[in-house]
Amino acid sequence: MRGTCELCSRSEIELTVHHLTPREEGGSLLPTALLCKSCHKQIHALYSNRELAIRLYTIILLKDDEALKKYLKWIKKQPATKAVRTKKSKTK
Ligand SMILES: [Zn+2]
Ligand SMILES: [Zn+2]
Repeated sequence: MRGTCELCSRSEIELTVHHLTPREEGGSLLPTALLCKSCHKQIHALYSNRELAIRLYTIILLKDDEALKKYLKWIKKQPATKAVRTKKSKTK
C-alpha cells in the first residue's frame, strides 16, 4: 500500500497500519493511522505501548511530542526512497 504518511506527510511512500492505542492495550477496535515504515518504527522505538495508550493516542498528540518533533523535522528532508536507521531513545 502506497500513499501519504499521516505523520511526516511524505507522499508516494510504503505505508503500514499503526494502532493509535496499541492492541496490547485494548486498541484493536480503536482508530488506526497510516504511517510510513520509518515513522512507525520510530514511534515504537521512542515510546512503550502503555505510553502510547495513555498519552499519545492521536496523530495530533504524537506530532506535538518533543522527541517526535525533532525526528519529524529531520525525516521530512529525507527522500521517500531512502532507507533510514531508527534512532533509539536514550531515556529507556
Ligand atoms: Zn512518515
Ligand atoms: Zn504501531
